[in-house]
Amino acid sequence: MKHRGFTLWFTGLSGSGKTTVSNRVHLRLQEMGVTNVEILDGEAVMRHLYDGHGFTREDVNRDTLRIGWVAHLLARNGVPSLVAAVSPFRESRDEVRSMVEHASGPGSFVEVHVDCPPEVCRERNPGGPAEDAGEPYEPPHHPEVLLKTDSSTPDECAERVIEFLTEKGLVTP
Ligand code: ADP
Repeated sequence: MKHRGFTLWFTGLSGSGKTTVSNRVHLRLQEMGVTNVEILDGEAVMRHLYDGHGFTREDVNRDTLRIGWVAHLLARNGVPSLVAAVSPFRESRDEVRSMVEHASGPGSFVEVHVDCPPEVCRERNPGGPAEDAGEPYEPPHHPEVLLKTDSSTPDECAERVIEFLTEKGLVTP
């Protein structure tokens, strides 16, 4: 079945649960017959899209925009993508939103704030990358979906995302 392209953008602190929830959403989408989904996360993104040099605000924004650029290409060709990226700064996330929506229409960028207190993230992710230790992080003002991963299970969080996509007609149950 052909689906409209969209970008599901999981943002949150390292250890908040972006990879865990996005993988479960991916499985659920496959069960629903949405099989042309790309995941932009982890090693491949680090290798191909992160510069890895320097951690100034500008450097970090540039990395966010590179991932966003790939996501927008996919979305405009009808391919949904699931992006898991700390992407700590509002300005580059908002720029990605504009890019995706310009290419694929209003509502095609879905920002999922994977929210979890920094101390819980640190406990979950001991020895995580220093640059992701929790500061600075600018939470979205108006995310399409807000997940509190310290008080709901990964499956509940994934279900919330699926419900949102279904409600908005981005996928059909
Ligand atoms: P991130 O991708 O944001 O760095 P990960 O998904 O790699 O985070 O790690 C999150 C950790 O928190 C995992 O060990 C996961 O099992 C745990 N966790 C506990 N509750 C949740 C939840 N509701 N959603 C996502 N992860 C959770």
